[in-house]
Amino acid sequence: MASDLVIVYHRQPYEEVEEDGKIVFKENKSPNGIVPTLKSFFGRVDKGAWVAWKHADDPSDPGFERVVEIEDSYGKYSVSRLPLTEDQVSSFYHVTSKEAFWPILHSFKEKYNYDPVDWPTFREVNWAFAEAAAAEAADKAVVWVHDYNLWLVPKYLRQLRPDVRISFFHHTPFPSADMFNVLPWRREIMESLLSCNVVGFHIPRYAANFVGVAESLFDVQTGAREEVDPDFIKEYVALSERRYARHVSYDGRKVQVLASPVGVDVDYIESRAQSEETIERAREIRADLDAKLILSVGRTDYTKGGTDQLLSFERVLEEYPDLRGKIRLMHVSVSANRNMTVYADIQNDIEQIVGRINGRFGTLEWTPVTLMSRAIPFDDLVAYYRAADVAWITPLADGMNLVAKEFAACRSDNRGALVLSEFAGASVEMGSAIVANPFSHRSMDRAIVQALKMPEDEQEDRMRNMRETIKKYDIRAWAEDQMKGFTGEEGPL
Ligand code: UDP
Repeated sequence: MASDLVIVYHRQPYEEVEEDGKIVFKENKSPNGIVPTLKSFFGRVDKGAWVAWKHADDPSDPGFERVVEIEDSYGKYSVSRLPLTEDQVSSFYHVTSKEAFWPILHSFKEKYNYDPVDWPTFREVNWAFAEAAAAEAADKAVVWVHDYNLWLVPKYLRQLRPDVRISFFHHTPFPSADMFNVLPWRREIMESLLSCNVVGFHIPRYAANFVGVAESLFDVQTGAREEVDPDFIKEYVALSERRYARHVSYDGRKVQVLASPVGVDVDYIESRAQSEETIERAREIRADLDAKLILSVGRTDYTKGGTDQLLSFERVLEEYPDLRGKIRLMHVSVSANRNMTVYADIQNDIEQIVGRINGRFGTLEWTPVTLMSRAIPFDDLVAYYRAADVAWITPLADGMNLVAKEFAACRSDNRGALVLSEFAGASVEMGSAIVANPFSHRSMDRAIVQALKMPEDEQEDRMRNMRETIKKYDIRAWAEDQMKGFTGEEGPL
């Protein structure tokens, strides 16, 4: 049976594990995260399908079934697995996407690496994804494509299946033409995106940048620049945008441009945070501390600004001797484990700075920074969110940043301060955080000190505001916006 909704996302929607010599599909442990969110859309259609890749030494004889039928708590759906060799995955994902696209999307021109890109392989893999999606889609189905590593899928899919409705969502920032047009494949990528019915982003700025890039490259007709909902305008936040065009027309097609921020499942996270185990675990964490806890959580990536943050912590300890012994930073920086020099370098830098800070300021009784490089299971993370005095989230560029929203979702006690970079997409909603500019030492240092000294009534006011916003724009609100995009109704921002 063909599917009404086909989700094209590079990763499979479950974990494959071997049990007693047999491969079994295990649902992701925690319902938190983007994969469970996407799977929840299958509950809204008669039949759904998911397209992802799976490693095969010989794609012509992969040794596994191409399409499997899954039945789990999200319903029944097919998963079409594209057999890709290690070289294909490395080329399309680790090289082209991560070394060439990722730095440009996050405005790091100096990290952009063109030389190793094998464009024919990128095309070939995207073509294979498009073919697999075309094979699953019912007549006039919605095909929902995710993220920049699948940028060419819409164009190929449009050739194969002119009848389907294509929606594309970017989970990253989208840069302005000055930055995007560094990519030599810019016209081909944009032509592909302009063959969608809907192109979605987290926030109005990224949507406006997309329209700007389209205008720079093609003779497009752009709709009127309409006002953005005031909930998403903060005059003191760098990523705020007041207006953007909701449509671009090109080659006889009107493309809807949608800005809708991915939210978190506030009800679920709140229930985890209020569970007895979490409260007990948070109490244990606090009991061992004897200092204010600053929590920083992110991946080890140059976009996350880990080293800049640690340097700020070092300056603060230097300038405010009264804080020594009274604060502790738990810096969670999850290693990428990708064998890429750029990630290994940051990991080394982080370890070196942490070592220096602990060496310079630490005592037998007090270690200023605890570094964790392994991912913390979500339930444990919730306990840390609940135990922390301050969440310190200061990426240099970040499409959204769900950690900031998860922290607020956990704080039904209305306590805790959030320091948030104005270059994280979440900052246009969470203006009641202490907004910091990670490119300014003064702004960074001042923000963390302000957070540490924030009186309880101010914490309460700010946290209440943030919680109201993240509840209003939770994951369900995002899902509703996406559904409107699927049916052709306009989204709200
Ligand atoms: N996360 C986790 N354990 C960790 C660190 C992060 O479960 O040790 C989760 C976190 O709860 C969040 C996600 O990883 O849901 C990170 O999302 P975010 O949008 O903040 O950053 P991304 O990694 O997508 O850039």
